[in-house]
Amino acid sequence: MSFKDLNIIPPILSALEAQGYKTPTPIQQKSIPIVLDRHDLLACAQTGTGKTAAFAVPLLQLMAAQRSVKKGEIEALILAPTRELALQIGESFHNYSTNLSIRHTVIFGGVSQNKQLNDLKSRPQILVATPGRLLDLINQGFIDISKIQYLVLDEADRMLDMGFVHDVKRIVRLIPKERQTLLFSATMPTSIMQLAGSLLYQPRKVQVDPVSSTAETVQQSVFMVGKEHKKLLLAHLLKETAADKTLVFTRTKYGADKLVRLLVKKGITATAIHGNKSQQARQRALHHFKSGQIKVMVATDIAARGIDIDQLPQVINYELPNIAETYVHRIGRTGRAGSPGLAISFCDTEEVAYLKSIQKLIGFKVTVQQHSFH
Ligand code: AMP
Repeated sequence: MSFKDLNIIPPILSALEAQGYKTPTPIQQKSIPIVLDRHDLLACAQTGTGKTAAFAVPLLQLMAAQRSVKKGEIEALILAPTRELALQIGESFHNYSTNLSIRHTVIFGGVSQNKQLNDLKSRPQILVATPGRLLDLINQGFIDISKIQYLVLDEADRMLDMGFVHDVKRIVRLIPKERQTLLFSATMPTSIMQLAGSLLYQPRKVQVDPVSSTAETVQQSVFMVGKEHKKLLLAHLLKETAADKTLVFTRTKYGADKLVRLLVKKGITATAIHGNKSQQARQRALHHFKSGQIKVMVATDIAARGIDIDQLPQVINYELPNIAETYVHRIGRTGRAGSPGLAISFCDTEEVAYLKSIQKLIGFKVTVQQHSFH
């Protein structure tokens, strides 16, 4: 099956092609026709399954086909629990809408609202938001959501876990009852079913296998290591390893650059790939890594999304992600198509809680390795 078979319009088709998407993922195959048919949707799918495009692509198509009631009104609202997810969704809308004249804006808390207010002046039709900041800006009179026709709740279970249920309900009361609503959640506990019952109208239901089940060919282990010893351990492992390519994940861009400088000093060829680098610099880094000229690529999660490296034997989590699904997504880059892969994580005392939630998600304990370097 291709995106064309799903009746996706040419401007979106070419944008997907530019992203390197060839076939729709299972969640996309199931969800896109339902959304295009204007039904409400209750989808059980995790990060890494392609769920963002499963709602973003058909929503863009519906919006492109329809003349706005009034230009410049917010027609679609996407609610996400975290700033990271909101940004990722924004990036997806950006990528898929390059050939359309549909604008979007992302707003989230924890930063000054000024830039976001400025972005809102471009009168986006799509708003991606975390609930708290959205309510805040609505209360200040900066955002009007009374003309919303499409509502998406992404990672609804996480939204409830983070205590956003009242904010979500408050937001829903401000948008028209007559709308199309899509709810995506990695798990379907009773609380989600109740929320779905109150928000969705005769929803179609779809489910896909969680990504956590795809990591069987990846051998996972963790080193319990103090933050101050991580650098040494990394250099040691990289010198010892037989792997010709290693993808190392850090949480920040700054951290990625710092690590590359250190590795290079120790005589290990390394490059960083992150959002502060130009597209050209990223492509170049990726090319050198793929061709084997550079042994180590240090990446942040956002930068690593969408890059596909065949035959990647080893992934190292220099820092554990605070979102368990991100771990699954990171290690899923090795051990592809049945070939063996190694996923090594470094866990300091502050990251033990992250390790616990990762183990809960994947359903087993990661083997602890001892280090013997000095
Ligand atoms: P998501 O689950 O939405 O976070 O998507 C996970 C990753 O899969 C992202 O890096 C997407 O860019 C990528 N992706 C989504 N759909 C497809 C597709 N049909 N083909 C290839 N990659 C995709």
